[in-house]
Amino acid sequence: MTDAIKVVRKAAWVVAWDEEASRHVYRQDADVAFSTAGILSIGPDYAGPADEEIAGQSLMVMPGLVNVHCHSGDEPIAKGLFEDAGTAALWGNALYEYSALIDADQDAKAACQTVMLGDLMRSGVTTHLDIASPYPQWLPLAAESGLRAYLAPGFREAQWRMAGSHRLDFDWDEARGRERYAEALAFVEEARAHPSGRIDGVVAPSQIETCSEELLRMAVGEARSRGLRITIHAAQTMAEHEELLRRTGETAPAMLERLGVLGPDLILGHCIFLDHHSWTRQRSRDDLARLAGSGTSVAHCPVTFARSGMTLESLGAYRRAGVNVGLGTDSYPFNMLEEMREALICSRVAGRSVFDLDTGGLLSAATTGGARALGRSDIGRLAVGAKADLSLVDLSHPAMQPVHDPLRNLIHCAAERAIRDVYVDGHAVVKDRRIVRLDYDGAVRELRDAQKRACRRAERDDPQGRPLAVLAPPSLPLAR
Ligand SMILES: [Zn+2]
Repeated sequence: MTDAIKVVRKAAWVVAWDEEASRHVYRQDADVAFSTAGILSIGPDYAGPADEEIAGQSLMVMPGLVNVHCHSGDEPIAKGLFEDAGTAALWGNALYEYSALIDADQDAKAACQTVMLGDLMRSGVTTHLDIASPYPQWLPLAAESGLRAYLAPGFREAQWRMAGSHRLDFDWDEARGRERYAEALAFVEEARAHPSGRIDGVVAPSQIETCSEELLRMAVGEARSRGLRITIHAAQTMAEHEELLRRTGETAPAMLERLGVLGPDLILGHCIFLDHHSWTRQRSRDDLARLAGSGTSVAHCPVTFARSGMTLESLGAYRRAGVNVGLGTDSYPFNMLEEMREALICSRVAGRSVFDLDTGGLLSAATTGGARALGRSDIGRLAVGAKADLSLVDLSHPAMQPVHDPLRNLIHCAAERAIRDVYVDGHAVVKDRRIVRLDYDGAVRELRDAQKRACRRAERDDPQGRPLAVLAPPSLPLAR
């Protein structure tokens, strides 16, 4: 590793941070100098030392994207199975009856993670928060990839169990949950001690409804005493919303407020079904104010949910209410730019207005929104002194032409096809669209067998004993 100074000369466009206005602005024909020490200079005619010059005439330099919610463990092998499935009695959600049946075995975990990391970085992500059950390669691979990583080992006391295709039940095992909690804390300490300086740990009670109130309180207290971030899936499905109403009469934010859990160090995963959401039919309108007033962040991952016919109402409305929202990719396809496009479209559909959210607001969510959720002002922005986490966007790509506004072209048309190089801490992790430090192609090959093994286990473990042809029928009938 060198700390060579790289200079993008005369970049056609730079998405730079305006400290005074506290927002991203465009700069044109600017030099951007950076090294492992961070961003050294943004402006005309950089005259300092330079070890590598990059011609910028057909480039946009933009801040690395911050993904505050993804899952490496199993999701890459769930692809193609359940996109047309859902449990009708659970509001069409596929999570409990279908997705929960697919598990990557230990042999496949590293391949799953490699594919996720590769897809994320090729779509301009430089920081990610990965929620998973720990496996041996998790931390070493995250470090090897070169990405900035927040690793969040999930723990819970209850497992989901489906009764037929109509009811979600919970199998509680408190002792096992507490063991997993202790293991998670140990893992988090190991992660934050990693010498790369790019890895941290996050305390992650998996779901609000699978942890007891006592465990939620205890875990959050422990995280706060250690100065760690916290993430919890909450208000992610109608089944969870109805379960919380049955148990406590509260929505997820109301319950977390009562437990003293809300706060600026907390990221709530998904946070869709709040009291104002049209599906929950509540009489109150307090949840957005609970989140905004406490400084709690939301990790918004539109693709997975929109695939099941549901969405947050709406990203623009959350932002106007003062809620800090970051973006995540949750499950596959781990394409942050496609996720951003869908976030914008869902916001406008749910908000019933083209004015619900604009492209600049969307970029803020995907950069500084995520950074704020992680408590950082040195990522998600291009400013002197910030980390050198950035992407070089190829403006000469046909999907980027003609260029009136490069961010709009990138988000509405080109997506990851226009991302040429990605740097984290001044080091290239994607160079000429190739993943630099991981065997991505090898991992893709491994996923084929891993998915077959996972499908065999799904058939074996399905409580209703359904074969794969019934669980995940092909989207078209097979010709005879
Ligand atoms: Zn999730």
